[in-house]
Amino acid sequence: MKTNKKIQMVDLQTQYLNIKPEVDEAIQEVLNSTIFVKGGKVKTFEENLSSYLDGANVITCGNGTDALQIALMALELEPGDEVITTPFTFIATLEVIELLKLKPVLVDADPDNFNIDVSKLEEKITSKTRCIIPVHLFGQCANMEAIMELANRYSLYVVEDACQALGSDFLFKDGTSQKAGSVGHIGCNSFFPSKNLGAFGDGGAIFTRDLTLANKVRAISNHGMQERYYHDFVGVNSRLDGIQAAILDVKLKYLNKYIKARQIAAEYYDEKLKGLDQICVPHRESYSTHGFHQYTLIIKNGDRDGLRKYLNDHDIPAMIYYPVPLHLQKAYSHLNYNEGDFPVAEKLATEVLSLPMHTELDEEQLNCICTTIKNYFNS
Ligand SMILES: *Cc1c(COP(=O)(O)O)cnc(C)c1O
Repeated sequence: MKTNKKIQMVDLQTQYLNIKPEVDEAIQEVLNSTIFVKGGKVKTFEENLSSYLDGANVITCGNGTDALQIALMALELEPGDEVITTPFTFIATLEVIELLKLKPVLVDADPDNFNIDVSKLEEKITSKTRCIIPVHLFGQCANMEAIMELANRYSLYVVEDACQALGSDFLFKDGTSQKAGSVGHIGCNSFFPSKNLGAFGDGGAIFTRDLTLANKVRAISNHGMQERYYHDFVGVNSRLDGIQAAILDVKLKYLNKYIKARQIAAEYYDEKLKGLDQICVPHRESYSTHGFHQYTLIIKNGDRDGLRKYLNDHDIPAMIYYPVPLHLQKAYSHLNYNEGDFPVAEKLATEVLSLPMHTELDEEQLNCICTTIKNYFNS
């Protein structure tokens, strides 16, 4: 089956062409101003993103990994303090814990929603635990209400890794909602090009509703200084540049539209694929909207790699996020975890398959992908 447009995991080119005049003009303004680092565009973007997050403070930085590191630095944890997170995520979440000489404690993933399994969290809390980092994997929030309740009970910080979930809503039992990344003490976001709100290079941001933390985060991301050349904290150099801020400020206006486009594609996939016995379509939790950073299937009966190869042979990309859970990664063997320690994450690593997902998928492409999947199972 041939489509007019080649099917890609992510189509940033068409997305750019659709808003090219606006983006080009915003970039040109930065070039004319020659204010390349920090400056007006960064401030405007931070303010607009803050409004989008219903008033949470926004501090931009160099990338999502830096956002996580700076967030943990702002909490002034001591070496050996324990930080709880999940083994089924991108490496950055664990990496920053290690870099700061903190002790990562992993809690297995939930087999339905792929996020940290809240029912297994409390038993991992010790007198050394200081912080929990839930990851809103693939664009659906972890159960923040339950996590915040535990955190309050044990006086822990919660740092949300919202790098895949900008724009998703966490829905509380009382009917109110808050944007992903603005629920915990600190939220971290990435503007990597393929993320929900993607720059034309690297970028990141930290969110917090606590003004004291916000000031500290801002200082730490800029060499620990509040007043120029007076250094109150040990910091890093991690800044968003003006060109990226200008691009992101244009694209922020389209973020809800982009999320809608992803959700429509997801519903199309659901509709066409849910009848297949060998496949589980993404499970939706009642406490979160799903921004579909990824549309991730579970393929049962050990057929995942066969399906992936069949799709690739038919010019359809499909990706495995993530093939090796973090506790089994070579760099982290010193943590002394073994195979079997996190059975859900280990099983997911063998069963998940993410289909093409972006803002520009058309019906012809979606139909081709779904038909090819059906052909694989029916042949
Ligand atoms: C992308 C991502 C990061 C890191 O963001 P970068 O901007 O690439 O540094 C961290 N955590 C998760 C879950 C991510 O998806």
